[in-house]
Amino acid sequence: KKKIAMMTSGGDAQGMNGVIRACVRTAIHMGCDAFCVYEGYEGLVQGGDLIRKMEWHDVRGWLSEGGTLIGTARCMAFYERAGRLQAAKNMILHGIDALIICGGDGSLTGADKFRAEWPSLLEELVSTKQFTREQIEPHKHLNIVGLVGSIDNDLSGTDATIGCYSALTRICEMVDYIEATASSHSRAFVIEVMGRHCGWLALMAGVATGADFIFIPEKPREDNWREEMCGIVQKHRTLGKRKTIVIVAEGAHDREGQKITPEMVRELLADKSGLAIDSRITTLGHVQRGGVAVAYDRMLATLQGVEAVKAVLEATPETETCFIAVTENKIVRKPLMKAVEDTKAVAAAIEAHDFDKAMSLRDAEFSD
Ligand code: ADP
Repeated sequence: KKKIAMMTSGGDAQGMNGVIRACVRTAIHMGCDAFCVYEGYEGLVQGGDLIRKMEWHDVRGWLSEGGTLIGTARCMAFYERAGRLQAAKNMILHGIDALIICGGDGSLTGADKFRAEWPSLLEELVSTKQFTREQIEPHKHLNIVGLVGSIDNDLSGTDATIGCYSALTRICEMVDYIEATASSHSRAFVIEVMGRHCGWLALMAGVATGADFIFIPEKPREDNWREEMCGIVQKHRTLGKRKTIVIVAEGAHDREGQKITPEMVRELLADKSGLAIDSRITTLGHVQRGGVAVAYDRMLATLQGVEAVKAVLEATPETETCFIAVTENKIVRKPLMKAVEDTKAVAAAIEAHDFDKAMSLRDAEFSD
């Protein structure tokens, strides 16, 4: 009987529980044993009680739950070979031969590294006499499949990451609440949303709430952004709008790479010699990660979870490590490391303030 383990890692996102539910039940349905690794890679490194066999009923009611019920953690030990050696030992002790990981680009990079190193980790476990050659024989190949759980929608190669639509929905709900009070007092609100290297949440929230102005990391505003923003806000006010909403992604900056903070924007809107609007800041923070998964994330988690189990059972030593993407509404398998590299290239271009490159990389993602 094949033993498949699944885990959540990195930042939590709505829909991760739906993934685990789908993977556990699909694995059982296909005649395999399902295991959950609790606390991300920490559970793999520590082993013991953090690796548990799961039954059909163990994941009952998990589909809508936010967060991850099997825990997630940042695990320093897994960055080191010694930690990964310990993880390999625990996998063999539990008889696990396949691993499904739901996390962000960091977690998926770690997974690929683990798979690439697997043969040499096994050799070390034999040479240090922790296992005999016969014991490791059934574990010679490690099959790994990734699923992308992230509220930021920050992985290249997939149209939506699991969690991003729940976070976007949460932002829209919060802006709706704020708008009522903003309108009552004719105030402006500067709303900070998540997204360090990816402006998807800010951009889509801007569209979905009809915000007056947005700031995203990939495409900084022109140098005259102050005049531009104030001009637009003034125009909207003249047309009778009683509220102003400006959305700032946490990674937003100007063309010189100077961070654009909500406070800078607020001061500008409130400037007595300018618009002089009563202006407030709301930082949405972890509210964006909270609450139930929206219908789209439940669907994506379920369809991708099923596909991940199929992919991990069909993988061979020759096949490249894949992740499950959604492209033009189809659930598809794609090479994992190409997506991770493309994601890192955008982040690197933003860090280097090469915004034209960042934008052309983003454009290329959507014209593939
Ligand atoms: P995310 O998956 O959300 O991008 P992190 O980058 O924090 O989050 O990664 C989560 C965990 O994955 C880390 O704490 C670490 O255990 C593991 N990991 C990340 N990058 C690597 C890497 N390059 N090599 C090995 N393990 C890694």
